[in-house]
Amino acid sequence: MIIKPMIRSNVHIAAHPTGIEKSVAEMIDWVKTQGNFKTDAKNVLIVGGSSGYGFGSRCALAFGAGANTINVSFEAAPQGKRTGSAGWWNNVFFQQAAEAAGLEYKDFVGDAFSNDTKELVANYIKETCGKIDLLVYSLASGVRTNQNTGELVRSSLKPLGKSIEGKTIDIAKGSIIDLTVEAGTQQEIDDTVYVMGGDDWQLWVNFLAEKGLLSEKCKTIAYTYIGAESMSDIYRAGTIGKAKEDLEKTANELNNMLSTKFGGEALISVSKAVATKASVFIPGMPIYGCILFDEMIKKGTHETVVEHKYRLFKDMVYGSKRLVDEKGRIRLDSFEMQNDIQENTLKRMRILENDQIELLKLEGAKEFIGDFYKMNGFEIENVDYNADVDMEYYSNLDLK
Ligand code: NAD
Repeated sequence: MIIKPMIRSNVHIAAHPTGIEKSVAEMIDWVKTQGNFKTDAKNVLIVGGSSGYGFGSRCALAFGAGANTINVSFEAAPQGKRTGSAGWWNNVFFQQAAEAAGLEYKDFVGDAFSNDTKELVANYIKETCGKIDLLVYSLASGVRTNQNTGELVRSSLKPLGKSIEGKTIDIAKGSIIDLTVEAGTQQEIDDTVYVMGGDDWQLWVNFLAEKGLLSEKCKTIAYTYIGAESMSDIYRAGTIGKAKEDLEKTANELNNMLSTKFGGEALISVSKAVATKASVFIPGMPIYGCILFDEMIKKGTHETVVEHKYRLFKDMVYGSKRLVDEKGRIRLDSFEMQNDIQENTLKRMRILENDQIELLKLEGAKEFIGDFYKMNGFEIENVDYNADVDMEYYSNLDLK
């Protein structure tokens, strides 16, 4: 089967297993070359660990700190003409590398919001490692099924109080397009908070705590975003911003519980903008991302997903270089938020969002858009994309 990129509305439909095999190996090799760091997290549960920041966290913790990892993700195996999702292949090649390194690993592919999945994971922890030392909550989803009513609730990415007009990049066409996003309603705010706020994170932590599956000093962490003033209408002051406020409030509640009962802690890390499945879907984010990357590359502060998460766990969760703001949030995004980076990005956005040719020539645009292709296994060096991919071989690589 010859596999070429298929992109609809900035969402990849196809994934290239050979390309992903190579990119996962590169990520893991990068972590190994950085050397080990010390944590007290031997057993780690990652909810949403198959792609983006969750996968970066899993690679950093397993290959940088020797952690045994359990991952819950919602991914598709290959079937017929369907190539399988990128996250599926990340899981497969992660497992191969973990096996070779003598690490324990387990993947649950299913709906993390469901009670059944929580039950399955709890039973597994009980029967294998006994307790977990860290829970990373890195879910990004557009939908959540209400477990009591069966209703499918959808999150949205909308501004509040007014509609906005702006521009974004149609990545498949390589062109800048105009967009108008209508203001979100109260129902859309409530639904987005339900899907992307802190409720499910809290359910996971409380469920495992009640079952006696959290170790002394257990930590949990979730990821939030603040970002530029220029992105505020659609992000921080929009429906998703309300969900992030709720996530951050949940961190405080969980922190009280974990510190009292376990001597542990709940953390929020403000992470930087990167190209992931979830982020390129945010209206306007690709233009901001391209110029931000360009500024950060010039300044020498640009980090990939795995580099960002390696620094988070090594320096700020377990190390002694934790940088927190007045709300107690870990500010891993401090390089993105530096005044000169923000001022230059904003200034150049005003010019370049009207100049597609110049925008796409930027080093940062090549990196941001390149990352988008790479996450599904495309545009990886030394992979022959005209060669037949032996899907029978790849389909037999199952998950443990
Ligand atoms: P992503 O889309 O790359 O990964 C999302 C993960 O959630 C995947 O592992 C996916 O399988 C899993 N998932 C989704 N629905 C699921 C379900 N129902 N059951 C089980 N697993 C499910 O997302 P990301 O960009 O890495 O985002 C992760 C977190 O980081 C989010 O909270 C996001 O807001 C935050 N964050 C992202 C950025 C960014 O620029 N990407 C910046 C700051 C913070």
